[in-house]
Amino acid sequence: MPTDPAEFGRWSWPEYQPLYVQLEALELTPSLAGDFLAGWTALADRIDETQQRLRVAADCDPPDTAATARHRAFVQQVVIPACAVDQRLEARFLDSEIEPPDFAVPLQAMRTRAETWRPVNGPLREREHQIQRVYSRLIAAQTVSWKGQETALPQLASVYDQKDRKGRERAWRLEAARRLVDGPRFDDLWQQLVGLRREMASNAGFRDYREYRWRQLGRRDYTPEDCLRFHAAIEEFVQPVITRLYERRRRRLGTRTVRPWDISVDPLGRPPLRPIDGSDLIERAAGIFQQLDPHLASYFETMQAEGLLQMQHQPGEEPNGYCARFAVSRRPFVLMNASGSQHDVWNLFHQAGHAFQVFETGGLPYQQQRHPGAEFSELAAMAIELLGAQFLSEQVGGFYPAADAARARIERLEQCLLRWSMMAISDAFEHWAYEHVDAALDPAACAAQWASLWLRYLPAVDWSGLENELQAEWQRHSSLLLHPFSSIEDGVAQLGAVQIWANALHDPIQAAARYRQSLSLGGTRILPELFAAAGAELAFDDHTLREAANLMEDTIDELERG
Ligand SMILES: [Zn+2]
Repeated sequence: MPTDPAEFGRWSWPEYQPLYVQLEALELTPSLAGDFLAGWTALADRIDETQQRLRVAADCDPPDTAATARHRAFVQQVVIPACAVDQRLEARFLDSEIEPPDFAVPLQAMRTRAETWRPVNGPLREREHQIQRVYSRLIAAQTVSWKGQETALPQLASVYDQKDRKGRERAWRLEAARRLVDGPRFDDLWQQLVGLRREMASNAGFRDYREYRWRQLGRRDYTPEDCLRFHAAIEEFVQPVITRLYERRRRRLGTRTVRPWDISVDPLGRPPLRPIDGSDLIERAAGIFQQLDPHLASYFETMQAEGLLQMQHQPGEEPNGYCARFAVSRRPFVLMNASGSQHDVWNLFHQAGHAFQVFETGGLPYQQQRHPGAEFSELAAMAIELLGAQFLSEQVGGFYPAADAARARIERLEQCLLRWSMMAISDAFEHWAYEHVDAALDPAACAAQWASLWLRYLPAVDWSGLENELQAEWQRHSSLLLHPFSSIEDGVAQLGAVQIWANALHDPIQAAARYRQSLSLGGTRILPELFAAAGAELAFDDHTLREAANLMEDTIDELERG
């Protein structure tokens, strides 16, 4: 089989199909199981790499419409038929009861897929995707007229960094009013989704959607009760920290309370931080990785040398990006936009963490072994953010004078704490919704539930007079509609990442070595073992969260003192 992506990139189903037929005909005995899995991986990797390359080409700026069309055609003509064969191959492999080395966890995932799959749910899944596309289109079409310009809502983010409080409030109210216009349509989409999800769960023989979704996501290492425990710990140990930080913010802003438009602005009135951009940004990041760990630095050098990192300059755009995996080439590809703000640095660190994981898992022989699940993948990325944050100062090769470096870290730690509270709100909302489906089908009950959760986990923000806006706020949390029960993954990952950072404060060399070693396990171990290999604990408890929140608050205080 060709190894050059330019060559297999031209393949379509007529090239793949006979090879799949051969694979399906292969006798499945313990001695041939390795050949079977290797043959399967060779096909799946080629299809995956082609799809990823087409996706990257389609997403590059300026938009390549031909690539978008090719990507769509490839999914229809190759990816979907291959999925159908994969399902048969999985069933056969499970029937064989063969267990190759380092394959217990992938086998468990296969079993789960087989257990939860019901043909009758196929059309319902398709319907779910259609509704999700409608939601995404509605969100993307939300614009307001700002300073005479048609402006997409995410572009208002830059206004919230600005000193002019009246301007921030005006933008915020304009944005909230625009969201409220679509409220009834979102309510309708949500009701359809909740109904469909209940039906799919019932078709698959589960008591409710939460139980079904848990199984579908392959979650065997933690339970809904663990999540509820985590929410309670966040309420007890994170909420007071945010309340203290926001009280300091309020005093510095000189306002009576902290309103929703006061959260992003620098409380001392300084203009937003602007790191150097372009190749300099990448060069300095390379220097920081060199200080973290020479192996990680060498991966980053490879990315630079082979053009595997593309940064598109889009001032005013929301910071985003992703890391694709080119499975045959065993290389990552990072595509990210750079808006000229400090977010570029966090985004670059984050994507680099994902990229390191691609390098580290390159040696695993079978495709099923490489994906550890979102909790651990995000840990890999978030740990690099926290470890890299230690080197933001120019004195250690970073981007800013010492005072600005401290400010950037303070801002980020505050955002990380806030991420936990936001996660608790949206995760608790989902637990409520799928346990009380009849209430979740009532827009007024959803609105009231969201508002009460918000006030419980984030009482430090003053929403008085904005009750309608607060009640509608849940509709902008796209994960509720697009990726049910996924927000917990980031919360869990962040708690792991903070533990790795804490280890690095004592022994940076060992912390980095364990981090790398844990990445190399891919998805061959269960989550608690992956976390343990990285030097952390998969945790939901008071003690671990309190330690983490304390470290974050103490670090903020120390940086404040200068
Ligand atoms: Zn990520």
